Amino acid sequence: MTVVQKFGGTSVGSVERLRNVARRVASRAADGEQVAVVVSAMGKTTDDLLNLAREINPRPPRRETDLLMATGEMVSSALLTMALVELGCPAVALTGAQAGVFTDATFGRARIRGIDTWRVEEEFAEGHVVVVAGFQGQSPQGDYATLGRGGSDTSAVALGAALRASQVEIYTDVPGIYTTDPRIEPQARCLQDIASEEMLEAAAQGAGVMHPRAVELGLLYDIPILVASSQAEFGSGGGTLIRREVQMEPENRVRTIALDRDVASVTLRHVPDRPGIASQLFGPLADAGISVDTIVQNASELQLTDLTFTVSQSDWEETREISRPLAEELGAADVLFKHDLVKVSLIGTGMQSGPGYAATMFRSLSEAGINIELITTSEIRITCLVNAAHGEEAVRVLHAAFRLDEAV
Ligand code: ASP
Ligand code: MG
Repeated sequence: MTVVQKFGGTSVGSVERLRNVARRVASRAADGEQVAVVVSAMGKTTDDLLNLAREINPRPPRRETDLLMATGEMVSSALLTMALVELGCPAVALTGAQAGVFTDATFGRARIRGIDTWRVEEEFAEGHVVVVAGFQGQSPQGDYATLGRGGSDTSAVALGAALRASQVEIYTDVPGIYTTDPRIEPQARCLQDIASEEMLEAAAQGAGVMHPRAVELGLLYDIPILVASSQAEFGSGGGTLIRREVQMEPENRVRTIALDRDVASVTLRHVPDRPGIASQLFGPLADAGISVDTIVQNASELQLTDLTFTVSQSDWEETREISRPLAEELGAADVLFKHDLVKVSLIGTGMQSGPGYAATMFRSLSEAGINIELITTSEIRITCLVNAAHGEEAVRVLHAAFRLDEAV
């Protein structure tokens, strides 16, 4: 059996922690499994490298930024391998490229095109644990390309898919996936399992534990992903399993509540309603690489409509620059920009088949005096945008209203 284990930056953040990880990996390998390990850069290394780059050049060239950032994961993979060898566990460190990870050439947010596993399999055949530098791959030109911040989760799941691993294990600094962020609601429970679709929604809506792209890959290739603490005793059965099928919980169909603080909104008011306005607005944003999240257009009244959309805060400045002149061109009466909002989302596949969730959500918020600025839904999610000052309270109110503190 092949298993892929991924250790995040905190878990490999010091010599002592690297040694801990090595012990854990070695004991797994001693069980006779083929183990591939994917590591992040130690601690805050990636941030430090980026700061260094910006100190030299406020707009560092993308290719060299990727080359620089890729070194962080190489350091931790080399050191972990040394620790394994020291323990008598045969191991080899590979860069993303050496492990056969091929990407496109979009520096800073490259996508994995494919993984050629021959080298990893050869090392397995030699009885080696393979330690792969996460977050990176090789572009068609042979350059280092990184996958975007938090990308080593994606490396791990992609490698798991390519190796047909039985499971990908993400070891991190929290015990698993919770009913909501326990720093906000101390009554939050660690879930035993969660459906991939639910996790995908949660990750996209701000549950920071796992990168959404990694969850998506797991869903696509049907690979179970275990999220567990790197501190917990190995084999203690802790952690949360993300998988396609989850036993339906008839009593409680809301699985988790996510809070996303990374929201900024743009509202165009009284836009003359004619075909093409949406494409005129969202075309240029897409061309600028800005991903638009929620879009709400009102039913028009007197041929005038209001249109609101949200973007991530990091894209806010650019979105303003692009949408201000466009709003004028489209004949909008005015355009409003807000960045004091957060998104509170209720997520659960069970909500598809049960009515009343939206009503309970809106009632609970209104009873707490929390105003809803905007509502959006998917089949398994209801999201309210509320003022940032009320975000955490909204989470607590809903956690109690849906009794997520009670084990089911
Ligand atoms: N080291 C990279 C980052 O900090 C990738 C990762 O940790 O997943 O974003
Ligand atoms: Mg991470």
